[in-house]
Amino acid sequence: MTNPMFEQLFEFEAGREGFYGEFGGAYIPEILHETIAELCDAFDAARKDSHFWDEYVQLMSSYSCRPTPVTFCENLTRQCGGANIYLKREDLNHTGAHKANNVMGQGLLVKRMKKKRVIAETGAGQHGVATATMAAKLGLECTIYMGAVDVARQRPNVFWMEQLGANVIAVEDGTRTLKDAINAAMRDWADSMAETHYVLGTVCGPHPFPLMVTWFQSIIGMEARKQMLDIIGQLPDQVIACVGGGSNASGIFAGFLDDAQVELIGVEAGGEGMNSGQHAARIASGQGHVGVAQGYKTYFLQDKEGQMKDTHSVSAGLDYVGVGPILAYLHSQGKVRFESATDKEVVEAFKITVKNEGVIPALESTHAIVHALKEAKEIGKGKNILVNLSGRGDKDIFTIADALKDEKWNEFLKSKVENMD
Ligand SMILES: *Cc1c(COP(=O)(O)O)cnc(C)c1O
Repeated sequence: MTNPMFEQLFEFEAGREGFYGEFGGAYIPEILHETIAELCDAFDAARKDSHFWDEYVQLMSSYSCRPTPVTFCENLTRQCGGANIYLKREDLNHTGAHKANNVMGQGLLVKRMKKKRVIAETGAGQHGVATATMAAKLGLECTIYMGAVDVARQRPNVFWMEQLGANVIAVEDGTRTLKDAINAAMRDWADSMAETHYVLGTVCGPHPFPLMVTWFQSIIGMEARKQMLDIIGQLPDQVIACVGGGSNASGIFAGFLDDAQVELIGVEAGGEGMNSGQHAARIASGQGHVGVAQGYKTYFLQDKEGQMKDTHSVSAGLDYVGVGPILAYLHSQGKVRFESATDKEVVEAFKITVKNEGVIPALESTHAIVHALKEAKEIGKGKNILVNLSGRGDKDIFTIADALKDEKWNEFLKSKVENMD
């Protein structure tokens, strides 16, 4: 099912469980040791039980359009005049992104552990909607923590979470954003861990989350490798994915880790540019420093005192201070190259992709497209690039209409407001 290099990630040095080189680990309060140990055991047993993976694949194929197709972008390729560009269509998942893979996988694990309740924290709300969807489908109680500022900003997602039956708690502490929501979720977990599982949304946090989420997301890479062999009779020359926490990138890269000839490229949020201080490029900028926060060790954008810096991106999903420890390790081994794309480049590439391919990419995923367009020219005709299209862009309608200064959209919003009672 998997390849040897990917399996190597599961081999820990004695006493260093969950470390990949210097990255990773589980820096958690004493009170969580027992529940994390229980999760490690449950994940280990599930991973070694081939029925569990089969059950996961079955669920994803009947509920979330798996295997997602690979699409050849004929028009983009012609326009670019270089390498062939292919998209792995994670946007066609249920709820519109690769996040479905992770939450459904963890949901099945929760059922196996016989827990009845899930909690999660969410910033932009995408992970909250995915988790609430999973909870509705699998019959679990669900509480979502969200900073009060984010609740106000992300009303459509809050609306859907509540319709799906989740209890959305607006966190009023601190700056009332994502990191305060994380703290609130941690406090809940410490009080409720006997019956509750904390559904982390990406390949970050304490062991076993980085490994476990990579494992569930590896379904992307496993499918994609086979699909490329079927479609072009060979492996792609490059695989490109955007990197927020790193789960969609880890998932597609997992299928190609043992293929030395395939170059793996992660694209971070360049925001307003590398020298602006307004970005979330932890590795590509060279400005990230190795530190410990939120339960694990990795590159964080932090100041000399270790305070986390504010990050910025046009896409909420890439706007995060840390990066998955396995990706940090693969970068240190020269296995994954990191690049960045600016907000401006993203808006341009978004327009080109929609008009030429009839595909509406999420702004997160468009970061990968920006870089693919550059590489396609660089490596030239006859080569093949596979881009992970992590999600669809419908959710970004407010941001995109704003960036494109669409007047009719503004009129529509105004008329909505005026007609309210
Ligand atoms: C959440 C999200 C991301 C960022 O998360 P990763 O863990 O880095 O994959 C990227 N793309 C889309 C569409 C998302 O919703």
